[in-house]
Amino acid sequence: MAYVYDPANIFARILRGEIPSDTVLETAHTLAFRDIRPQAPLHVLVIPKGPYVTFDHFAAEASEAEIMDFMRAAAQVCALVGAAPGQGGGGYRAISNAGEAGVQEVQHYHLHILGGRMLGRMLPH
Ligand code: 5GP
Repeated sequence: MAYVYDPANIFARILRGEIPSDTVLETAHTLAFRDIRPQAPLHVLVIPKGPYVTFDHFAAEASEAEIMDFMRAAAQVCALVGAAPGQGGGGYRAISNAGEAGVQEVQHYHLHILGGRMLGRMLPH
């Protein structure tokens, strides 16, 4: 079944400027801002400006320019917030929830970048 993007989702509203956000970085195709309910001292969301629902939707259908911009922006965010290990940062986890099993709350693709403390095992057992 093809993805259907709902332009009423909360991140679409942030992109339209209808809701404020704590911006970390904005580029041509990407916006990064702090999560409103942080689950770690560092919790930034990186989103494409285009209408993509999940990681796989974005990876399959976004243009090369959008994908390149998104990946470079995510790297820049890691560096900006002092998390990139290659630049002396403390490390981070980049995750993206999709659909029901992934427990995705907001139906606009986003990459969580979490850090600032030991995050423990990837998934609870
Ligand atoms: P998901 O469960 O979809 O992977 O994560 C959605 C994330 O968006 C959650 O971590 C939640 O705290 C965050 N979030 C939901 N609404 C808002 C909002 O209005 N502003 C910001 N900055 N983050 C939000």
